[in-house]
Amino acid sequence: MSYVDNVYENVVSYYPDQKEYHQAVKEFLESVRTVVENDEEKYQQEAMLERMVVPDREHSFRVTWTDDHGEVQVNHGYRIQVNNALGPYKGGLRFHPTVTQGMIKFLGFEMVYKNALTGLPIGGAKGGADFDPKGKSDREIMRFCQAYVGELFKYTGPNMDVPAGDIGVGGREIGYLFGMYKKLTDQFDGTLTGKGLTFGGSLVRTEATGYGLMYFVDELLKDHGQDIKGKTVTVSGAGNVAIFAIEKAQQMGAKVVTCSDSNGWVYDPDGIDLDLLKEVKLEKRARLTEYAAKRPNAEYHEGHEGLWAVKTDIALPCATQNDITLEDAKALVANGTYAVCEGANMPTTLEATDYLQKNGVILCPSKACNAGGVSVSELEMAQDSEHLYWSFEEVDSRLSDIMRNIYHIIADAAKENDLGENYVAGANIAAFNRVAEAMAAQGVY
Ligand code: NDP
Repeated sequence: MSYVDNVYENVVSYYPDQKEYHQAVKEFLESVRTVVENDEEKYQQEAMLERMVVPDREHSFRVTWTDDHGEVQVNHGYRIQVNNALGPYKGGLRFHPTVTQGMIKFLGFEMVYKNALTGLPIGGAKGGADFDPKGKSDREIMRFCQAYVGELFKYTGPNMDVPAGDIGVGGREIGYLFGMYKKLTDQFDGTLTGKGLTFGGSLVRTEATGYGLMYFVDELLKDHGQDIKGKTVTVSGAGNVAIFAIEKAQQMGAKVVTCSDSNGWVYDPDGIDLDLLKEVKLEKRARLTEYAAKRPNAEYHEGHEGLWAVKTDIALPCATQNDITLEDAKALVANGTYAVCEGANMPTTLEATDYLQKNGVILCPSKACNAGGVSVSELEMAQDSEHLYWSFEEVDSRLSDIMRNIYHIIADAAKENDLGENYVAGANIAAFNRVAEAMAAQGVY
């Protein structure tokens, strides 16, 4: 059995239930297979792949908190620090009932290589808990965050590990986490990013992932002699990434016709009304049925089926993992979709990835497309350590430069390795080279 296959088999047998982790590792290893096999002895001698697929450490802990009825509740919390070859561990926290150790591990693994593509000095980690923020009062959210950070603070620090938000963890939660972190450590530092603007946060952080995705898409289209203006765009999700991707796409002159939440999706042929969407999802934290009710031509569909069958030029999955299945990929191909650019983490199944690539749809992977969030998080770390704030224009222009540069890094890596427009492989190879070089230079430990 080859070195690459052997490493993958060991991952499956050591973590048998962590299917999403298998999927992330498989995609990565398949992409870097040729690079590794060209220099197999060197990588094998240093156990490079084994050291990449086994996280530096996995913290798994109990989170005990009291609800509004005085009942004691117990959740499972995690922080998985995967690799810090390039800089302090960096990656978000996810609060969602589906969270498992395997999910956090796949997300942490992805962070290592996403962060490498940004060219910024950050390693990769991820954390979270199987806590469902839906239907909880503000005070319950606060008590949960305080209990969670009561354990998390032991493993974090501005030069050690810097968490941020993810699904279910927005500005409100980061505020509560930071408050308790500060009380426990007496340190007002840049340990958490995504903070409020009055206490060390950065302008553009809220918009960063969605805006960054569109800067990437714009560069991709320009490089292919096309213009985003006038293009039809379909989006899944109606959270932080989706909303700001829609905002930037509309500013760039594209027409966005769909969005979704965990209950269903909306097709709005007149183009999504962004003010209404923000009111429903960001202010009222309500369902998309409320959006559809106020738009005469909009259709609401319960569930998730059918969104990717809407005719589009550019598809932007911005909700969650494994959102685009093989069936969806077939519909996207049948409709002549030009590109799928992943706003969410790993939203395309391996079968769908394969089908899209074999049928001429350009697929740009999340570790490249959604790196805008972590990039501005790193710019927040830089501002915190300088004790200064930068203007919106300055952060936004750095974000745009970083995202456009990422496009060229992955496109060049694909070209140099004779992979045509296989940007999934291009991203993995470029990121692998950077991390492997730093690991090799730092010795075996
Ligand atoms: P949010 O929690 O703000 O929004 C997530 C959206 O997806 C919501 O509309 C939610 O619906 C929907 N959703 C959640 N779970 C499911 C599901 N199982 N099926 C269908 N829809 C679902 O998260 P973000 O926008 O921050 O994150 C979206 C994705 O982007 C995630 O994969 C995240 O890891 C990734 N990402 C986020 C970054 C960021 O800066 N925020 C950075 C990089 C990646 P509902 O409204 O009903 O909850």
